[in-house]
Amino acid sequence: MTNQVAVRVPGKINLQLSVGPLQRDGYHELATVFQSVSLFDEVTVSQIESGIEITSDSKSNIPLDKENLAFRAAEIMCKKFDIETGLAIKIKKEIPVAGGMAGGSADAGGTIVAIDSLFSLGLKRDEMERIGAELGADVPFTIAGGTAIGTGRGDQIAPVLSRGSYNWVLALSTSGLSTPSVYKECDRLREGLDISKPFVSDSLLQALSHGDAKALGKALSNDLQPAACSLKPALRLILDVGLDYGALGGIVSGSGPTVAFLAENEDHALDLVVALTSSGVVGNVIRVAGPVPGARVITNG
Ligand code: ATP
Repeated sequence: MTNQVAVRVPGKINLQLSVGPLQRDGYHELATVFQSVSLFDEVTVSQIESGIEITSDSKSNIPLDKENLAFRAAEIMCKKFDIETGLAIKIKKEIPVAGGMAGGSADAGGTIVAIDSLFSLGLKRDEMERIGAELGADVPFTIAGGTAIGTGRGDQIAPVLSRGSYNWVLALSTSGLSTPSVYKECDRLREGLDISKPFVSDSLLQALSHGDAKALGKALSNDLQPAACSLKPALRLILDVGLDYGALGGIVSGSGPTVAFLAENEDHALDLVVALTSSGVVGNVIRVAGPVPGARVITNG
């Protein structure tokens, strides 16, 4: 048994997010296409005498108690596998908090993978994904990574044939959007409309299977975008600026407020970063690539 395991786990963007009607239980059926991108949190888990302790370098205020999804992941793993020692979890955050990039879910996924390795549990990836689904709809995909379709609440995932690598430019906001409030706004905007069952578009899947960035740019779609823009009108301006500067497509990721722009290649992505930064409408612009693998152990010892 080792003393400490560090796991690197990526954030995601949604290339499509199709949201079904509001159900009686308050949830919505989803059909989504996730892609994990090269913006990573690092979760390090080590053994201590007792209890679960979380520390983080995050400048944003993330909870360090039971409210933290990583804490809940550790609790579930200890219960399921009769782990009796305590655990210290250190979270180094790069994924924006409440940014629509599944940051909290990534830390939970990373914790599951780290505990599996720390205690040599020998779990298969799909077993860890099933445990992740008990914590939140986005957790299984943070373990799987790559490009995948998510159905149900987004937690039932199936890999998608995707050729090549895509160059993304992310416009990060300084303040987040709460996922429940974006869904609430979406329901308000759709009141009285007949909403159909969610579906993944054929044109998006075809673009991915051909590795066709131009077609992918055109096929990006997010049913939560109008709601995110209604709560944060600055997002509309950011989308307009990125598209004016020649992005192949632009989309609010998940419930926002991160905006993802697709570039033609690395040089084009660099140009977009410069253009968006100098436009003054975005504080923080970064370049990432996708798809990348899901949660992976980086050090073990
Ligand atoms: P999603 O894309 O899955 O809807 P998100 O990326 O928009 O989620 P998160 O970064 O997961 O949002 O944070 C949402 C809220 O979850 C935060 O406001 C925070 O209070 C809480 N939270 C719990 N655990 C974490 C964590 N490990 N990191 C960040 N936030 C966390």
